[in-house]
Amino acid sequence: MELRDTDRALVQAASAVAKLRCRSQRHTVASAARTADGRVFTGVNVHHETGGTCAELVVIGTAATQGVTELETIVTVADRGREVVAPCERCQAVLRDHFPSLRMIVGPVDALRVAPVA
Ligand SMILES: [Zn+2]
Repeated sequence: MELRDTDRALVQAASAVAKLRCRSQRHTVASAARTADGRVFTGVNVHHETGGTCAELVVIGTAATQGVTELETIVTVADRGREVVAPCERCQAVLRDHFPSLRMIVGPVDALRVAPVA
């Protein structure tokens, strides 16, 4: 699937958060998700030896905190120029269960594409 301008903007949002906030071993990945009406939520992972929490789950919780229960598109960007990464298997399962029609932006930065989460 082709990227829309709003998809590129979402990648930029996640990249900006990764660059600004992922500067330690504690936070290494940022995620951004957009609602159908254009609201954007971002979050970073919380790394810990007990397992920690992925950025995607933080985004879901952040959106829920604002009363948002439907997300349209999500992208995850790793720190230190590691670019766009796919959500891990656990997060993909959570995303699929909570948002069956969610669009995921994945792939190398020069060939990004949209993939369904389902
Ligand atoms: Zn994950």
